[in-house]
Amino acid sequence: MNPVLVVGAGPVGLSAALGLRAHGLPVVLLEADPKDRERPGSRALFVHRETLRLLDGMQPGLAEEITAYGRTWHTRRTLYRGREVYSRTYPPPSGIPPFTSLRQVDTERFLRAACERAGVEFVWDARVTDVRGTATGVRITGEDGRVWTGEYAIAADGARSTLRRSLGIAMEGSRGEGFHVVVDVADIPGAELPLERVFHYEHPGVGGRSVMRVPFTGGFQVDLQCRDDDREEEYGTEEAVRRWLPSVVGDGYAERILWVSTYRFLRKVAASFTDPHRRVLLVGEAAHLFPPFGARGMNSGIADAAAAAHAIAAAEGAVAAGTAEAVAEFAAARREAALFNSAAAGEALDHLRPRRRSVRVRQRAAAALSPVLPWCGSWLEHAPYGPRGGAPVAAGGKY
Ligand SMILES: Cc1cc2nc3c(=O)[nH]c(=O)nc-3n(C[C@H](O)[C@H](O)[C@H](O)COP(=O)(O)OP(=O)(O)OC[C@H]3O[C@@H](n4cnc5c(N)ncnc54)[C@H](O)[C@@H]3O)c2cc1C
Repeated sequence: MNPVLVVGAGPVGLSAALGLRAHGLPVVLLEADPKDRERPGSRALFVHRETLRLLDGMQPGLAEEITAYGRTWHTRRTLYRGREVYSRTYPPPSGIPPFTSLRQVDTERFLRAACERAGVEFVWDARVTDVRGTATGVRITGEDGRVWTGEYAIAADGARSTLRRSLGIAMEGSRGEGFHVVVDVADIPGAELPLERVFHYEHPGVGGRSVMRVPFTGGFQVDLQCRDDDREEEYGTEEAVRRWLPSVVGDGYAERILWVSTYRFLRKVAASFTDPHRRVLLVGEAAHLFPPFGARGMNSGIADAAAAAHAIAAAEGAVAAGTAEAVAEFAAARREAALFNSAAAGEALDHLRPRRRSVRVRQRAAAALSPVLPWCGSWLEHAPYGPRGGAPVAAGGKY
């Protein structure tokens, strides 16, 4: 049998390759970057329990390997203008934890090792420029003229997906105003901050901007929510971060900054998750872009990857009761999940960056009432991440 071609060795492409191998299908994974590339920053820190279960189904033991390295915190706190309005500590879970937190580069390291154990064939330095689906297979061309043929292709080549463009599939959605700054900071050995996720509305130390701190193995990520009229050079450069970071996390961290980045809010979903011949399947950021609150990007991308691998196996008759319609079903189901996630991320964004003054007034009132009405504090705690779940979504948990 011809292999399945996976394009892109990000977390989603690696998961797709692993899922295909779990179904016994031969896989060639084409990646533009060199084998020894360095991937930047923490990015998708938060790996949900549903995602861990999917990965463990692809390679038993993988969830334990990832969670043994990641961090699971049991305390979540919310503050409003310097005053705590919510704090909850959960008992440690038994079995697979509800989530684990590690830098995306580490998640990719575990996935890559799992792919190598499973017999995925990697082709590095393979920048793809074109894909053609036909009734019987796919043909992919690289920028150096190399050609690969396969039964199916999975497009996991990220937000600027060449495969999606080559198929002429549009992204539909919107771009929000303003930007956030994201900073990775290394722990001070022996003086680690408490293992807790803290969201601080209108932090007085950064001029009333909201800020979140999330731990990961070896350090923590700080996310600063800037105003629409803020300039990136005032908040988003390493020099600027050195100025404001102490008022958020205390002294001693300015020299421990690992990575600084800014991001804007795209909410976009591909018009179709497959081509007319049902031979190319779009997954991850090649198919959808969400703001990071709610941790929907990588988690739902891995759910896409598992579904794509299953659909190809079903269409090839490699799973019981598989049908030729499996790819069309994949495309419809995962697009529906992406639209749900997009709407959920939009709700989170409306809370975090309200367009209406009344939302801020409600937040202020909830903070004032939280000592006597605990549900007000609970609303402030939960609203920044949007609604939970949605059956086949594999995203929407809380930091
Ligand atoms: C600041 C920030 C915070 C985030 N936080 C979270 C979070 O907490 N939780 C979460 O779930 N998500 C989060 N995300 C999103 C997450 O990082 C992405 O969803 C994830 O990286 C997408 O994975 P992917 O595999 O689809 O694409 P990518 O990681 O972009 O991988 C695409 C791969 O394809 C390769 N490629 C590209 N073009 C070609 C080509 N033409 N030929 C061959 N190879 C190619 C690239 O080199 C790359 O290796 C965050 C993102 C950002 C920026």
